[in-house]
Amino acid sequence: MQDSGPPGLELHTTCIKRLLMRSTATTIADMPHVAVLPGPSSWYKDYPIAEGARQSPINIAPEEAVYDHGLPPISLHYDNCTSTNISNNGHSVVVEFDDVDDRSVIQGGPLENAYRLKQFHFHWGGKGCHGSEHTVAGKTYTSELHLVHWNAAKYSSFAEAAVAPDGLAVLGVFLEVRDERGGLNKITDSLYMVKFKGTVTDFRDFNPNCLLPSSLKYWTYPGSLTTPPLYESVTWIVLTEPICVSEKQMGKFRTLLFNSEEEEQRTRMENNFRPPQPLKGRTVRASFK
Ligand SMILES: [Zn+2]
Repeated sequence: MQDSGPPGLELHTTCIKRLLMRSTATTIADMPHVAVLPGPSSWYKDYPIAEGARQSPINIAPEEAVYDHGLPPISLHYDNCTSTNISNNGHSVVVEFDDVDDRSVIQGGPLENAYRLKQFHFHWGGKGCHGSEHTVAGKTYTSELHLVHWNAAKYSSFAEAAVAPDGLAVLGVFLEVRDERGGLNKITDSLYMVKFKGTVTDFRDFNPNCLLPSSLKYWTYPGSLTTPPLYESVTWIVLTEPICVSEKQMGKFRTLLFNSEEEEQRTRMENNFRPPQPLKGRTVRASFK
């Protein structure tokens, strides 16, 4: 690190160094069973689709997004939501839901059917670094929440849906450091129980409604999982309005470890995001003018 230079640049360099240091670490599993993998820049070696036509995340350029007046509002029915457990899968912290029926679904917007909520998880950076996957006009956010849903009207299992072009719908919500978000406390207060990779504990009666902003205005585009196997099966719905989170709450996410309890190495779970991928001619549609 140089002694001089603008502090912003220094911070940026630190974040990049942290990313480069993460030789064996990886970003989050949108697929829960993925083992330890090399970093995003070498994923293409094992997963050629990493260079495919509809990879995620992307940088969203608001002025290039096309307003589509035919896009209905999205509607979220999480009222009778049944969360089951919270776990550390070695890539992120994941809250899973009972998805045997249509009790918790997203519908409307670009979706032809109701899609069932399967799980949600987060991506975040190191302290003072940004950690969202999608960016907006080049701006990154502190963290990004992904609510993962699958098309149970058309496919018989999550695994089957995960490989189909219209199989998954992921709702992305940005987190911005400001005040504490009360709804996040139940999650951040449970993280000490899932510090190590492979740990899981009961997590009942959590309704993700408390993690949503007041506006459901969104951008939508066809994309992929952001971790291997990077299947191009996701209809992305990214909300424009971020929710807030406190620095203290973000600090609790960074107490998680990429490692299991048996491993000698202890690497803090942070910077578990994939950088934006080429748009390759895709259109981002906006639900608003
Ligand atoms: Zn994700």
